[in-house]
Amino acid sequence: MVGELMQRLRELSAERENAALFFDVDGVLAPIRPLPGDAAVPDVVREALSRLVGSFKLVAMVSGRSAHEVALMLAVAGVTIAGDHGATIVRDGVEVSSVPPELLGRLEAAARMLARDGGLKKAGVRVEVKAASIALHVRGAADPADAMESAAAAASAAAAAFDLIHHRGRAVVDLRSPDADKGSAVRRLVLETGVRAALYVGDDRTDIDAMRALRFLEREGTPPLRSLLIGVASDEMPSELTEAADYLISQAEVLPLLKALERSSAEAP
Ligand SMILES: [Mg+2]
Repeated sequence: MVGELMQRLRELSAERENAALFFDVDGVLAPIRPLPGDAAVPDVVREALSRLVGSFKLVAMVSGRSAHEVALMLAVAGVTIAGDHGATIVRDGVEVSSVPPELLGRLEAAARMLARDGGLKKAGVRVEVKAASIALHVRGAADPADAMESAAAAASAAAAAFDLIHHRGRAVVDLRSPDADKGSAVRRLVLETGVRAALYVGDDRTDIDAMRALRFLEREGTPPLRSLLIGVASDEMPSELTEAADYLISQAEVLPLLKALERSSAEAP
């Protein structure tokens, strides 16, 4: 990790009582696996995270998975989880923000429309209906590029029909509410906790919403906020991640980053 980034991490640790740490899960804490169900957060990462909880004002996971699923993957007490791309927020095991029923109706209708689409099945697209979004997975398809086109076309049609938005991620097209994204979740958590510094680590398109929201709060300056935005680079990363992030690291450098935060917290007064 570059020395300049290490210095920024030390500065963040020095004000940990007023700082938030935000982490995406897949591709950041959990290495990408061919099937999302096989992804896991390594024990060393869970242990490092649990040592940061209580030291920093807020340690939060921000994921496209449901908050419940993230809680099971992590099993770290005291973390805040923004699941379903920010539509659900769970703090200390208690849901503080949940999916509005009218959104559920629109998602169910979109899921029915996608289930009727024979082309998706033929292209090898796997449709996963989640609590507040629908993921069209193309990983494992015989022709992933062709599957991505089919998934994007179907998601676009469903989005138009049911007032949803769709976007391409890493081997996935997500369909979700236009009213909640990782940006709105991060903004809410920053304002509610009153933190003055925030770290965000993410690898995909939806994380850029969170990075932009933090950058926006920083520019607004009321309340004052310093942000440190870290992109996790991969072959599948969106090109905008390079512009949105202050630094790019590899997935293998995430654990050293957690350990650097832990070390500098122990050293800092
Ligand atoms: Mg990710």
